[in-house]
Amino acid sequence: MRRDRRVKILATLGPASSDEAMIRKLHEAGADVFRINMSHTSHDLMRELVARIRAVETAVDRPIGILADLQGPKLRVGKFAEGSVALEIGQSFVLDDDPTPGDATRVHLPHPEILEVVRPGHRLLIDDGRLELQAESADGKRIVTRVVTGTKISDRKGVSLPDSTLLSGALTDKDRADLDAALAEEVDWIALSFIQRPEDLTEARAIVRGRAGILSKIEKPQAVEQLDEIIRLSDAIMVARGDLGVEMPLEDVPGIQKRITRASRRAGKPVIVATQMLESMISAPVPTRAEVSDVSIAVFEGADAVMLSAESAAGSYPVEAVGMMNRIAMKVERDPLYPGIIFAQRPEPEATGADAISLAARQIADTLSISAIVTYTSTGGTGLRTARERPRTPILALSPERSTARRLSLVWGLQCAVTEDAVDLDDVVKRACRVSVEQGYAKVGEKVIVMAGVPLRTPGGTNMLRIATVEG
Ligand code: PGA
Ligand code: MN
Repeated sequence: MRRDRRVKILATLGPASSDEAMIRKLHEAGADVFRINMSHTSHDLMRELVARIRAVETAVDRPIGILADLQGPKLRVGKFAEGSVALEIGQSFVLDDDPTPGDATRVHLPHPEILEVVRPGHRLLIDDGRLELQAESADGKRIVTRVVTGTKISDRKGVSLPDSTLLSGALTDKDRADLDAALAEEVDWIALSFIQRPEDLTEARAIVRGRAGILSKIEKPQAVEQLDEIIRLSDAIMVARGDLGVEMPLEDVPGIQKRITRASRRAGKPVIVATQMLESMISAPVPTRAEVSDVSIAVFEGADAVMLSAESAAGSYPVEAVGMMNRIAMKVERDPLYPGIIFAQRPEPEATGADAISLAARQIADTLSISAIVTYTSTGGTGLRTARERPRTPILALSPERSTARRLSLVWGLQCAVTEDAVDLDDVVKRACRVSVEQGYAKVGEKVIVMAGVPLRTPGGTNMLRIATVEG
């Protein structure tokens, strides 16, 4: 029943992991939250995946989070008469508004908004950066470029524009339709791709209206520049290293990962490290030593979650990949160096009851022998602040709201459970003790810390800490 890992595991579902038996195996191997990638999933399939995850959740009796990841403004070139063409470094190549199939001199770029914002000197990175073009002139209808690196371009390849700021918002028509469909299924998190500025969150917020948490994927240099403001307006953050590593020099990504992780921890917003974590396990049962080390770095840094993409969605070893991630995380969290490294980044409490009591709970747990910190949280706010302290003791987050428990399953250290509201202070303590025992976190005679706001269900009302001994 109990889970003894603090960092959470997010597994992307796909062709290798769509049936209920496989989803259950992934959960049992350690996946806490499942990602549905709307770039590759129809609405019908999304609805089926949600139903299967919910069936597993009922069977294992533990809240499971679901993240619907919107494609965002992913830009692509048009098609070629021959499917692909060879290019030479130094040659000129044109992107234009003409939908006729391309050849070795030109191709259609079906995004008028890019034709408008590209200026001479801007880079266009095609096919994850395998082809780099530099703009020499642009008149709003045609961009004349020079080939800097790469020798080939083919149909519908992705285009990244690290130097140009697009004027369009972060949601496309497809995203709006996907968002409505995902909200109708009551998913817990919505991820926004390729956001560039804080304003890009406004429309999604207005549509979502609190029905799901909003997660911003940091994968554009423009977003890195306005990181603090984007974190402030988001409910969670993803270090989306795949596209980040296309748009920025690869050697910049590790430092940016650390910056994003630390800034998110300081803000008390869950942060996920994503992409290529165990990439070689797409086709091999064991990862490379470097990949194991990469996962460990995210865990040592105190990230809330680590993510698998194609490893669990389309690889040959999805269960093994989750199991490997679980073992690496468990080992790191028991490493004698781990507490010192993770606590070095512990943020100062803010002047609120939840922060003062979270800090006190952590200090008491370090002083006495405490089996669990039990925190009551209706909206999830107090749960997040308790996790922000990164205590050594397991945290049990109890919520009367199933949606809160599911959403918090993404958060470092929180073991979530749904409970009915307590009727009075006595019941708060009794219930906390009972759930601690039921969930395997405490035995009769052991001590737990109970944090709550009395009266219950007053948001921002955390005002009580009790050290309770579990009675038989
Ligand atoms: P993606 O996002 O898998 O949707 O592209 C993650 C990333 O870019 O790293
Ligand atoms: Mn991406």
